[in-house]
Amino acid sequence: MNIVVLIKQVPDMDKVKFDREKGVVDRKSAGTEINPFDLNALEAAVQISEKIDSKVTVISMGPPSAKEALKECIARGANEGILVSDAKFGGSDTKATSVILAAAIKKISEYDLIIAGEKTVDGDTGQVGPEIAEVLNIPHVSYVSKIDNIDNKNITVCSDIWDGTYLKQMKFPGLITVTKDINEPRLPSFKNKMKARKAEIKVLTFDDLKEFLDEEKVGFKGSPTKVKKIEVPSVQQRQGRIFREADTQKAEDELINIFRKNKILEVNNE
Ligand SMILES: Cc1cc2nc3c(=O)[nH]c(=O)nc-3n(C[C@H](O)[C@H](O)[C@H](O)COP(=O)(O)OP(=O)(O)OC[C@H]3O[C@@H](n4cnc5c(N)ncnc54)[C@H](O)[C@@H]3O)c2cc1C
Repeated sequence: MNIVVLIKQVPDMDKVKFDREKGVVDRKSAGTEINPFDLNALEAAVQISEKIDSKVTVISMGPPSAKEALKECIARGANEGILVSDAKFGGSDTKATSVILAAAIKKISEYDLIIAGEKTVDGDTGQVGPEIAEVLNIPHVSYVSKIDNIDNKNITVCSDIWDGTYLKQMKFPGLITVTKDINEPRLPSFKNKMKARKAEIKVLTFDDLKEFLDEEKVGFKGSPTKVKKIEVPSVQQRQGRIFREADTQKAEDELINIFRKNKILEVNNE
């Protein structure tokens, strides 16, 4: 079976800073990591390959630095990594991103199952997986929390939508997006780390994909989303006060005053 896993390199969200004036993420302010949900997607693929003989190909669209993320995926059990990268792809919204990634998948041509994360921790739209399925005209199941059964023709999964869990069966070729509940991603093994170090990451540019792409449908030109304004909400610190034991009466009076002022407490003085 041929399994394609989609991974995105994202900034470390605990450390990243925002340029409040320009309203953009200052990507240089923090290191990068593989989008955590995509590690679950990769783990799901590797677990399938341990049951059914499969090839796991990982694809990422991004800058040349994303090669490192793809090598990490090989260290975690993938067979090969493909980077989709070209200046013409810059400024792509989710629709253009999906069109480009779908073109890369068409270029590979042999695929049974595509696995994506349910969303990214930076863009957070959850649109790319289902959009790729639409572009490729194949079925998809989102929010998969468990693979119940799989053979060479079908996959049966639990899909968590709103408050319900649905048991769904899908024929191949098809796409699933996975949640964090599906598995616990493994750490890279020493043997695979050595393999990853030597691995060649194939790069696909616009020219490599032009048989499947229209220049007007990629990058800024191909992105119907227009961002009017980006605002970063300021973090408001809670105001704290410490009352010492000796001030008990004073503290009590002050607290009652604060509660009354904020209409939390009504005191009947009669
Ligand atoms: C107008 C506009 C311009 C933009 N310009 C840029 C830009 O110049 N540079 C830039 O980096 N971003 C840009 N973006 C952001 C870019 O569109 C998103 O990063 C991208 O579409 C993924 O969306 P998301 O993060 O919401 O992914 P989601 O839809 O939340 O991701 C779901 C899953 O899809 C897969 N996936 C998502 N993105 C990728 C990817 N790149 N490669 C492989 N798999 C992936 C992963 O499995 C992921 O878990 C722009 C967005 C807009 C709206």
